[in-house]
Amino acid sequence: MLFHSTRGKDSHKSFKEIAIQGLASDGGLYVPDYWPEIDLDKVKNCKTYGEIAKLVLPAFADGSYEEAEITSMVDEIWQGFPSRELVQFRKFNNFAVAELFHGPTAAFKDFGLQMVSYFLHRILKESNKHGVILGATSGDTGSAAIHACKGYSNIKTFILLPEGNMSEIQRRQMSTVDQENVFAIKVNGTFDDCQDIVKEAFKTDQYLPNNFTLLAVNSINWLRIIAQICYYFFAYASLNTTKSLCFSVPSGNFGNVFSAYSAYKMGLPIKEICVAVNSNDILHRFFSNNDYSKQPTVSTISPSMDISVASNFERLVYDYYLDRDANRCRELFNAFNSNQLQLDPEIFENKLNLFSSLAVSDSETKNIINYFFKEHEYILDPHSAIACKRALEESNSYVIGMATAHPDKFPTLFNSLNIQITDHHPALKGLKDKEERLVVLPCEYSAIRDFIRNSL
Ligand SMILES: *Cc1c(COP(=O)(O)O)cnc(C)c1O
Repeated sequence: MLFHSTRGKDSHKSFKEIAIQGLASDGGLYVPDYWPEIDLDKVKNCKTYGEIAKLVLPAFADGSYEEAEITSMVDEIWQGFPSRELVQFRKFNNFAVAELFHGPTAAFKDFGLQMVSYFLHRILKESNKHGVILGATSGDTGSAAIHACKGYSNIKTFILLPEGNMSEIQRRQMSTVDQENVFAIKVNGTFDDCQDIVKEAFKTDQYLPNNFTLLAVNSINWLRIIAQICYYFFAYASLNTTKSLCFSVPSGNFGNVFSAYSAYKMGLPIKEICVAVNSNDILHRFFSNNDYSKQPTVSTISPSMDISVASNFERLVYDYYLDRDANRCRELFNAFNSNQLQLDPEIFENKLNLFSSLAVSDSETKNIINYFFKEHEYILDPHSAIACKRALEESNSYVIGMATAHPDKFPTLFNSLNIQITDHHPALKGLKDKEERLVVLPCEYSAIRDFIRNSL
């Protein structure tokens, strides 16, 4: 299997190469040269997420790793889940919730980032190199990266934390990890300031010693998509319904939705993928009205979905709407330049049957949480509640709401709703009593660069 860019100027890349590189050199995103088919009869016999991963991973790693090699790695990749079953399902009358939040940081990002860090560690080790991960976070990505990398001594992780909307729990998840190779760095700037520093740092890695490689942790790394594809197949194997399937996905950067779409392209019979967003509704405006235009981000009670553009969306435009016309895709995204994109209306109209979308305000999100609590004695976190709105609407399909975070991450919200969380997430217990290890630095590129250099 080889990979190429959605913008057509970077191709013939192996699994190992795209694991390290992330973004393609022409500014596009890597996609596989073809969609591998997964045998549904084999899927049906799978009892665990790991068994599914043994069917899915070899198809993408082919050429970099032998099948036997990669299947033996599967048992090592995902760690720190309290039970052997990584995904759990809650079944209701005519819908289900797929709980993706049992990992060590209580959000679904553990799936993707544990996959990425496992392979980064291996690939660096093979070439006697060390990795420096640098990223900025306003929520879950940073803690998933810190927790995924902390056990790998050849990777040092530096995460910049901006001022602002981050909850105390989210901060503590990063600042209380007592490991030499991870650094949570608080800076007195906004998320955008932090992003600017990261961009500056990536322009050159000359400031690092020779055997160090600078690595990004962003949502466009294809390995994250692979890890997420597995749980869509696993839902199919576990829920075993005769009805057609509708997955409803709380969406921000569109990685999780694109994983559902990938599973569809690999043979999973999905009838509908519902793209569920908060008031940051660029994706809803696109799917309902062919209007993909950037607007300022607003802060909501589902902060991990507060985005103004969706970085994985280009993959869908390329594969689904443009039938892999890389020249057209390059034109569209060069012209978009983070402002506005509209597809040829005929193309848009022809592709109306797979995706649906909905946008949910904060007050409606609270209503949905209250409704599920009263009606089903089930507590949804605000991100998952947005997706589960689809389960309350008319449908001939079996709706599966993807639950991406554990409610324990949002104690202030649940206090204000007078909802007592009884089923606590084991990894979040005692977080309040742990000592914080925060580095505080000025919000300046040179300060961050020097700190990194001195910490290697
Ligand atoms: C990151 C995140 C999302 C959005 O996922 P994307 O793949 O970026 O669309 C949704 N919910 C939670 C809890 C998240 O952390």
